[in-house]
Amino acid sequence: MPIFFPVPAAFIHSSMWSQPAATRLVWVTMLAMCDDDGIVDSSLSALVAAVGLPKSSVIDALATLAAPDVWDNGGTDGRCVEAVERGWRIIGYSVQPSVRAAIPSAVRAEVLARDGMTCWLCTHAIADGDLHLDHVIPWSRGGPDTPSNLRPAHARCNIQRGNRPVREL
Ligand SMILES: [Zn+2]
Repeated sequence: MPIFFPVPAAFIHSSMWSQPAATRLVWVTMLAMCDDDGIVDSSLSALVAAVGLPKSSVIDALATLAAPDVWDNGGTDGRCVEAVERGWRIIGYSVQPSVRAAIPSAVRAEVLARDGMTCWLCTHAIADGDLHLDHVIPWSRGGPDTPSNLRPAHARCNIQRGNRPVREL
């Protein structure tokens, strides 16, 4: 069985996501390969093999990622990676508590018993396969997985909302 991890919606709304596809693929591959300190302990040829693109594309992407202004984040000069002795380091990498457990089924059941299959963001009915539980206080801002902080939402409404608190909508 494959194991999948949640990826914050902000990931596809970052300036990185306007980069060419090869750059994005190298970036995602490096995020998958790095250790808890953000070190991608790899040779260039191993990285090329992992990415699955021509070597020249990977080298171009690495140059982009190592150049300023890939991120438009402020605080840093925008570089994403730097070469280190063992391979590369992802600058600013930090392990978030993102490998979080699924919302317990009892909590989920309590939310659905209270609110039904109605999207709290757009107020329309939700089809079975389209249900997300949205955090009123975003999980990334410390909102807990408790019934009082969870509401049913369409997957698309939940993703559109991203990490914004409700009052910013
Ligand atoms: Zn909705």
